[in-house]
Amino acid sequence: MKIIKNKSLKKINTFGIDISAKNLIIIKKEKDLFQLLNKTNKKIKILGGGSNILLTKKVKGILAKNEIKGIEIIAEDEETALVEIGAGENWHEFVLWAIQNNLGGVENLSLIPGTVGAAPIQNIGAYGVELKNVFEGLNFIDLETHEEIAFSKEACNFGYRNSIFKNELKNKFCITRVYLRLKKHPHTLNINYGIISKKIEEQKIKNPTIKNISDIIINIRQAKLPDPKKIGNSGSFFKNPEVSKKKWKKLKEKFPEIISYPLPNNQFKIPAAWLIDQCGFKGKKYGNTGCYKNQALVIVNYGNATGKEIKKFSKKVQKAVYKKFKIQIFPEVNIW
Ligand SMILES: Cc1cc2nc3c(=O)[nH]c(=O)nc-3n(C[C@H](O)[C@H](O)[C@H](O)COP(=O)(O)OP(=O)(O)OC[C@H]3O[C@@H](n4cnc5c(N)ncnc54)[C@H](O)[C@@H]3O)c2cc1C
Repeated sequence: MKIIKNKSLKKINTFGIDISAKNLIIIKKEKDLFQLLNKTNKKIKILGGGSNILLTKKVKGILAKNEIKGIEIIAEDEETALVEIGAGENWHEFVLWAIQNNLGGVENLSLIPGTVGAAPIQNIGAYGVELKNVFEGLNFIDLETHEEIAFSKEACNFGYRNSIFKNELKNKFCITRVYLRLKKHPHTLNINYGIISKKIEEQKIKNPTIKNISDIIINIRQAKLPDPKKIGNSGSFFKNPEVSKKKWKKLKEKFPEIISYPLPNNQFKIPAAWLIDQCGFKGKKYGNTGCYKNQALVIVNYGNATGKEIKKFSKKVQKAVYKKFKIQIFPEVNIW
C-alpha cells in the first residue's frame, strides 16, 4: 500500500484550501483498510470527496481517501430494487445511474457533491427529500475494533443533517458500502417543493419523469450555488436552526417578516440564510472570504483564503446572528 507523504489537499477539498496531509492513502477495497489497520497505530481520518470539510491545519496521522467503487442491483421485487453502492462512488454519478436505470427516489438529490459513503453521515437532503427516505442499510469498518459491522436504517439514528456517525460514532468508523431501495416505474415523485412545481408549470411538463425533476434541480442549483471548481465553498456552511414556539412568537413580534417553517415537534425551523442576510453579510467580501451573493448560507473562498480565515469569518457570522436574533447557528461543515 502506497503512502503519499505531505500531499497538498487543495484539489481534493471543495473549499480549495491549500493544506497538506502528512500521510495520504487511497482505499480501493475493504482489504486495503484492514491491511492499514493491522500495520499502524496512527490515528486514521477518512476523506470522501472533500465537499463538507474546512481544513484549518495540517492533517496529522493518516488520511485515508475512500475510493471503494461498484454499483449493483442485489435484489428486486415488482416495485423496488435494492442497490449496493461502494462508498467511494461519486454521489451525483450514482443519481445519474439511477435515472438511466429508471429507478426513482434520489432525483431530488441531484448534483450534491461528494461520495455515496459520506451521504448517510449528515443524511444529505435537498428539495424535500433526505437520504433516509431511500436508505436501507450500510456497512462500516470500526476503526477501533477492526470489525466489519452492518447497520440498519434504525441504527443510524437519522435526523436533520444528522446521524449516529456525527455523534456517538464520530471519527470511529469508515463506511464501505451503502444500500438504497429505489422505486421502479411508476415513480413516486416529490414535487411539492415550491420551486419545483413552479418550474414544471413554466416548462409545461404534463407528466413529469424522474429525469425532468433531476434536470430542473440541476438547473436551479447551477443558478443558485457557486461551482466549487470556480469559487471554493462547501455548500451550506450552517444548519438551519430550530426554535420553540414561544421563541418563534417573540421573534415574529419583533421581525414580522421572518421566514419560518413549522415542524411536527412544535418547533419552528428558521432558514439560516435569512438570518445571515438580515445581518448584512450576503454578497459582502471580507478579505479572501465572505457570503455568496446568491445564497448567504454559502461561505466562499475568493481565492487564497486559509481555513483559519474562513473559520474566523464563520464565527463573526455566528456572533452577529446571535446578537440580532438571540439564535445560535451551528456549522454543518466539518471543521478539521
Ligand atoms: C456546492 C455544494 C452544495 C452542497 N449541497 C448540499 C445539499 O444540498 N445537501 C446536503 O446535504 N449537502 C450538501 N453539500 C455538502 C456535501 O456535498 C455533503 O455533505 C456530502 O455528503 C459530503 O460528501 P464528501 O464525500 O465530500 O464528504 P467529505 O467532505 O470528504 O467528508 C465529510 C465528513 O464525512 C467523513 N467521511 C466521508 N466519507 C466517509 C466514509 N466513507 N466513512 C467515514 N467517514 C467518512 C469525513 O471524515 C468528514 O468528517 C454541498 C456541498 C457543496 C460544495
